[in-house]
Amino acid sequence: MRLVEVFDTTLRDGLQVEGVSATVDDKLRIAEQLDHLGVHYIEGGWPGANPKDIEFFARARTELNLDTSTLVAFGSTRRPRGKVDDDTTLRNLIDAETSAVCIVAKSSEYQVVEALKTSLDEGAAMIADSVRFLHGEGRRVLVDLEHFFDGYKENPEFSLRAIEAAVVNGATHLVLCDTNGGTLPNEVATIVADVKSHVADDAVIGIHCHDDTGCAVANSMAAVEAGAGHVQGTLNGLGERTGNTNLSTVIPNLQLKLGYECLPEGHLERLTVVSHHVAETLNRAVNPQAPYVGSSAFAHKAGLHVSAIVRAKDAYEHVSPEQVGNDTRFVVSEMAGRATIQMKSDALGLDLDGAAVNDVIDELKRLEHEGYHFEAADASLELLMRRVGGGVPEFFRVESMRVITDELPDGEFNTEATVKVWVGDGDDAVRHVWVAEGNGPVNAIDTALRKAIGKALPELASIHLTDYKVRILDGGSATGATTRVLLSATDGEKDWTTIGVSPNIIEASWRALEDSLIYGLLHAP
Ligand SMILES: [Zn+2]
Repeated sequence: MRLVEVFDTTLRDGLQVEGVSATVDDKLRIAEQLDHLGVHYIEGGWPGANPKDIEFFARARTELNLDTSTLVAFGSTRRPRGKVDDDTTLRNLIDAETSAVCIVAKSSEYQVVEALKTSLDEGAAMIADSVRFLHGEGRRVLVDLEHFFDGYKENPEFSLRAIEAAVVNGATHLVLCDTNGGTLPNEVATIVADVKSHVADDAVIGIHCHDDTGCAVANSMAAVEAGAGHVQGTLNGLGERTGNTNLSTVIPNLQLKLGYECLPEGHLERLTVVSHHVAETLNRAVNPQAPYVGSSAFAHKAGLHVSAIVRAKDAYEHVSPEQVGNDTRFVVSEMAGRATIQMKSDALGLDLDGAAVNDVIDELKRLEHEGYHFEAADASLELLMRRVGGGVPEFFRVESMRVITDELPDGEFNTEATVKVWVGDGDDAVRHVWVAEGNGPVNAIDTALRKAIGKALPELASIHLTDYKVRILDGGSATGATTRVLLSATDGEKDWTTIGVSPNIIEASWRALEDSLIYGLLHAP
């Protein structure tokens, strides 16, 4: 099995994407995740480009304990007509104290002449001097050959000269970059094969693609098939414009489909959770439809598929989701057939009979017509099924609830909720009345209810709401529209989501909150 190194640049190129920024703490946490996944290289940033990256490398020295990955500092070759000894960029690279460095170099005639305004001889000398200097300082030197494919098409002699300047001076890696992202897989394959025939085994050929034609993953795979042994990219394809090569896609493609070794044995199944952790740290959710790691990647909705997949797991799945740490999910909606409901019921240990399954389907259809959407609210679906089966205890019963919001003279808003609620059965039932303030109606109701019944139901203390999403369903009628609320909660071990729908946002929120607490109590350890 041929080894293909994985080089992650989420912390450098990935952070070029609009609307994403990361603190030094975030970057350290992401580096730990990448090491846990088992990538060979983590590009940490460009020391000298900003104070944050200098701090990152300084803290990485003492705070990061990497098991599988090598940390890399990024920079560039020396300036045109400059000297390596007094070049600040090169100095900063050395000061980052990483064992490996990656420098960007111009390998296209057009870029040297037009962007650097210098001669091709000087262009080649900049690469040669810089690599020799860094190599002399004991660094492993990777060279990012910017605009390589465009340059090679225009003047291959100069592009090969740039490569030679790097190799003879000690570069271990020649990373061919499709900087503008416009190259297609057939061109990548031809050019990488050409380069490979010149370089042979003198250095590892790497590939760095951008997704401007939607081909970054395909281009990276074509490069590997043509002889590249090093793939650069970012988790979830984060990056400038349309993004970088998506490592969450290309790693399983190379490993599961083509038989290359990318991650250490047993690490591929960490891919889904690491992709999600990194996305969460950067506050940029994973696209649900992302290959391999998306929440819908192995979700089956249509009734026909689901009944087939119950019979044969691989009927509608191209790989086993466990291989990448994902799960098969049966999505239950009004389109679901009996098989889905029956399966869900079996999984919950509910043992619903044929008539009960029909009742669940009727109830689902009725509620989805009102605007409920159970695909996103597994906990509410489970409660619906349990209620049909008669299996949800009445933990508490709300007699009434009132919320008042006042605007105070100083412009502040004050929200207060009153909840009257019964706990217990029959003659033993006890009535609790509580008033609480909150920073908004949902918070105030939640606080009042917890105060009212918290003593009787101490398990509530471990349940926390984590997310509250509101969506207007019937946008056309504006403030008269139906509101759908999705509420996520956790008890520290399990996460769940519930749903409420109503023209009244307070009622919708309340329905979701009530289900959320009941679900938490039902599953309390
Ligand atoms: Zn790039």
